[in-house]
Amino acid sequence: MMGERTVMQEALFYSFRIEDHVPADHLLRSIDRFVDLTGIREHLKPFYSAMSRPSIDPELMIRMLIVGYCMGIRSERRLCEEVHLNLAYRWFCRLDLDGAVPDHSTFSKNRHGRFRDSDLLRKLFEMTVERCMAEGLVGAEGFAVDASLIRADVHRQRSEPGEEGLPPKAAGRAVREYLEVLDDAAFGGATPVTPKRINLTDPAARWTAATREAAFYSYSTNYLIDLDHAVIVDVEATTSVRQAEVTAQRRMIDRTQERFGIWPERLVADTAYGSAPNLAWLVEDKSIEPHIPVFDKSARSDDTFERSAFTFDHEDDSYVCPGGKRLHPSNRNFKTPRPRANADGFVRYRARQQDCSTCDLKQHCTPRMPARKIMRSVHEGARDMARNIATTDAYLVSRRQRKKVEMLFAHLKRILKLDRLRLRGPNGAKDEFHLAAAAQNLRKMAKMIPMPELAMA
Ligand code: SF4
Repeated sequence: MMGERTVMQEALFYSFRIEDHVPADHLLRSIDRFVDLTGIREHLKPFYSAMSRPSIDPELMIRMLIVGYCMGIRSERRLCEEVHLNLAYRWFCRLDLDGAVPDHSTFSKNRHGRFRDSDLLRKLFEMTVERCMAEGLVGAEGFAVDASLIRADVHRQRSEPGEEGLPPKAAGRAVREYLEVLDDAAFGGATPVTPKRINLTDPAARWTAATREAAFYSYSTNYLIDLDHAVIVDVEATTSVRQAEVTAQRRMIDRTQERFGIWPERLVADTAYGSAPNLAWLVEDKSIEPHIPVFDKSARSDDTFERSAFTFDHEDDSYVCPGGKRLHPSNRNFKTPRPRANADGFVRYRARQQDCSTCDLKQHCTPRMPARKIMRSVHEGARDMARNIATTDAYLVSRRQRKKVEMLFAHLKRILKLDRLRLRGPNGAKDEFHLAAAAQNLRKMAKMIPMPELAMA
């Protein structure tokens, strides 16, 4: 006999535990094991008044933000709706069935106030790194560094040519933040190069044509990762120029050493980090092996001898050319003595004109100039070390490992949906990048360390 659903027989009392309705293998259940926010209250205490009305619990807001970033929910308005409706989200946020979900505007108020003043999101990110270290996921033998462009939340049309500078009509919070960070090497002071266009809504975002698409405004998220399990050990927001990204790499290495007491034996990166001063900083100041291609513009396309055809003689401080002659540093007698190296840190070595003019190899060496010149960086020792490393098997392994950081960026954009910023200004970019990196570390731990009951099943 076909059964019929009986209606109008609601129970008067329900016994309902949200806990019982969250699947054992739910991602948030696994993540919850690694979220310990007990220090957050103490950290925030100085930023709350002892007199006024009780505020929304900051732990609730942080838990909601973790849900948003881990589950790729980009809008705070939608996040509030989802937490209201979804049992697993309520469970993670420690909300009962009738627990009130804060209004979305609360996030904005706290972000611009207490959270920013107390650097709370940075602390949250560092908490995830400490936990990854405690779980044995950070080996600290090799690190990799890279940056990725994230579109800024601006309209392309609201912009002016860069050489005209920021017009007085530009106003707003993001503009104030831009003016505050003008001297910061990560943003305005990173490069003397004038941007092609400047945006009136968010002037710290950089007009960039680095990809194959049409140019757009962007910030860069910089990751320093440990190569053992691709844990993000530091993150930094910068404007999208190479100099700023190299500055971020140095800051992240220094900060990781200072905060967590770890530093790598080798650093893996692409050519953007292979400038002579940066290689020298790694090798001479930090004793880190650079597994980085050397940024070298000495390649020749006219079939003449490359620089590598000349041998450097350290004792004599000269190069020996393929014709067996020596190239010495320029030694002209100027009235006012000039520095040995030019402003970019390069010393010029010159062959003697008499040697080149009678040389049989001149057509293959310097067909258009009377004598051959070779530029040598004052940091050539570090460059040579990087070149030698590039010939080893270990370098091939490092090149493969470099993909780990690229995969994290792909995950950030595709799964966490952070391909465009929602917040504006340098502080907005910092907030979003800190939260996203914290979410990626939490998801990493959830994936790498199975739940005990699931592992036994
Ligand atoms: S042209 Fe000058 S630098 Fe070049 S091989 Fe001959 S002597 Fe040496």
